[in-house]
Amino acid sequence: MSARKQMSWYAGASDVGLIRADNEDAYLMEPPLFAVADGLGGHQAGEVASQLAIEVLFANAPKRADAKALGRAVRAANAAVIEAAAEGRGRAGMGTTLTAAMVEGARIAIAHVGDSRAYLLNGGQLVQLTQDHSMVADMVRSGTLSPENARVHPNRSVITRALGSDPNMVADTFEVEALPGDRLLLCSDGLFGMITDDAIYQVLATAPSPEAAVARLITAANDAGGQDNITAVVVDITGSSAAPSGSSGRSSASDVAPAASGAGHVWPGRVLWLVLAAAVVFGAYWGATAYARSQAFLIAENGYVAVYQGVPGSVAGIQLNWRQSVSEVPVTALDPVTAARLASGIRVEGLPAAYAVLDGYRSLIPSASVTPSSAEPTATP
Ligand code: MG
Repeated sequence: MSARKQMSWYAGASDVGLIRADNEDAYLMEPPLFAVADGLGGHQAGEVASQLAIEVLFANAPKRADAKALGRAVRAANAAVIEAAAEGRGRAGMGTTLTAAMVEGARIAIAHVGDSRAYLLNGGQLVQLTQDHSMVADMVRSGTLSPENARVHPNRSVITRALGSDPNMVADTFEVEALPGDRLLLCSDGLFGMITDDAIYQVLATAPSPEAAVARLITAANDAGGQDNITAVVVDITGSSAAPSGSSGRSSASDVAPAASGAGHVWPGRVLWLVLAAAVVFGAYWGATAYARSQAFLIAENGYVAVYQGVPGSVAGIQLNWRQSVSEVPVTALDPVTAARLASGIRVEGLPAAYAVLDGYRSLIPSASVTPSSAEPTATP
């Protein structure tokens, strides 16, 4: 083991909270694999289910950030929990949530069942990556319940999908491209049920290390009442594909390599803006225009991905962008991080790069919905 107090690129902890007698949550930190499980079934059963799910997930996990393969590992965990209950280990009816993340460079593969969550602090914005499989989440999605009322709804702990009951259960699986400097959080409902997303954002955006973030999150949940077991795993995205793997340390963050990241969330774009603004203010409008024409971005427009030449927004009140085409690719077909980034625009170096990114999106959506686009101009003004 290396010296303690070293900065680590990930950390995690679980706390029983202030009300419950037992902790039925479990978590895993075996880089590049991280997971949180929240056991169901009461005394001496929830613990069995969550711990077993974590162990079987680890034993079956892929080596790469492959969401489909990770989903198969979650299915193996499901089968193991069902089998254990049938054999009298734990208790019939026991179950568990399972939210697993495989981090490879800036790529994150997620497999998820239940109402634990994965969040990503992405370019300074908090994005909830996973959708809760719960009754209140269904009601929020259908518009019959507000997110605020969901937090206090009497049936808020009723989940609609979990490991341990249905042999045909399928996990939600997807991959996201994070940015270096992003921060991933996996947590049980004992965290986000006690504190708001805004409070979670504040901690993730300001804590100097994953360890500090985990400690602050758990303290905040307990300060808010600690009504459930609280588990949080925080992983800093370094963007390096040679993520330190080190020796294994399940439920222990003390023996990992020092952080390779921790730099803030400064986007190169910010510097660019200043240069552009200065160029415009000092009358070098042509210079700014010439630069902008060499740039491109993709942005969500009426629910579809649009391609623009130029830079998003306006500089000193002047628009420096020109729409090229609106594609047939719906934003809803893309992963949550990409969708969130498309809201403000994803900048690339020039139009050919923009169309290459768009082709990448097309390859991710069912081929039936892709029609050859004839509207892509190749010449620019
Ligand atoms: Mg819970």
